[in-house]
Amino acid sequence: MSAFFEERVLSVHHWTDTLFSFTCTRDPAFRFKSGQFTMIGLMVDGKPLVRAYSMVSGHWDETLEFLSIKVQDGPLTSRLQHIRVGDTVLIGRKPVGTLLVESLQPGRNLYMLGTGTGLAPFMSLIRDPETYEPFEKIVLVHGCRTVDELVYEDLIKDELPHHELLGELVQEKLVYYPTVTREAYAHQGRVTDLIFNGKLPADLGLPAVDREQDRIMLCGSPGLLADYGAWLKANAWVEGTNTHRGEYVIEKAFVER
Ligand SMILES: Cc1cc2nc3c(=O)[nH]c(=O)nc-3n(C[C@H](O)[C@H](O)[C@H](O)COP(=O)(O)OP(=O)(O)OC[C@H]3O[C@@H](n4cnc5c(N)ncnc54)[C@H](O)[C@@H]3O)c2cc1C
Repeated sequence: MSAFFEERVLSVHHWTDTLFSFTCTRDPAFRFKSGQFTMIGLMVDGKPLVRAYSMVSGHWDETLEFLSIKVQDGPLTSRLQHIRVGDTVLIGRKPVGTLLVESLQPGRNLYMLGTGTGLAPFMSLIRDPETYEPFEKIVLVHGCRTVDELVYEDLIKDELPHHELLGELVQEKLVYYPTVTREAYAHQGRVTDLIFNGKLPADLGLPAVDREQDRIMLCGSPGLLADYGAWLKANAWVEGTNTHRGEYVIEKAFVER
């Protein structure tokens, strides 16, 4: 059996020159937990060319959705950015990942901190009613360079609160905090700085982030993870794993090659 499902592209949306998303069919045998990623890609010269991608869609959704960067000389995305409806994409059969609610101790507020395409796993998580259960608030923070990179903003702000099944939970518990570093915007600054200096919780009228009560999920660039990982360790936060629930979980949004 091949390691990949062959799925058909159903829609493609280009957000900016560097970001696009697409949906595709989903084999009923493909099951994943909210927050996981799998290897996806294309057949190139008769061989699979695949990279890690987080699922954006809900685990209950009949179709799959992915958010992708466009790296102009990137082996995969220089090609993937040209996919069209009806094309075939490869979807790895074995989803994995650390950004799981089950790896966290229940708590007061769960901060989901994502930069760039690091938003992707959180899109799947906020579409899962079970994400909301152990927490009072889910604070979704998306950091980008420019305003047009704040993908899914309308869906988060306008659609999810009116969703048939999720609407009530989203209205009661989801707080969205988009922030931009290189343009004027309602919220400005790096995700890390905004947490370190306490501005973000203060802006939202929430108490300062507290290891005893709050939980963190982090998905961003290697640089962000290094900064934040050092801060968490220095402040004695315990990392959650498959076997031990902790106070935070972390995943790279990409690796530098
Ligand atoms: C756990 C995990 C989950 C991932 N999930 C996603 C996802 O949901 N969406 C997604 O677009 N990518 C994701 N990536 C990155 C993805 O696997 C590929 O690196 C990306 O698709 C580019 O592939 P490529 O072959 O074109 O270029 P690569 O050779 O893979 O990358 C070339 C360079 O582009 C830069 N780069 C790669 N990916 C990104 C990115 N996402 N944002 C900013 N710069 C980047 C890096 O500097 C890298 O060195 C994930 C990576 C990991 C490790």
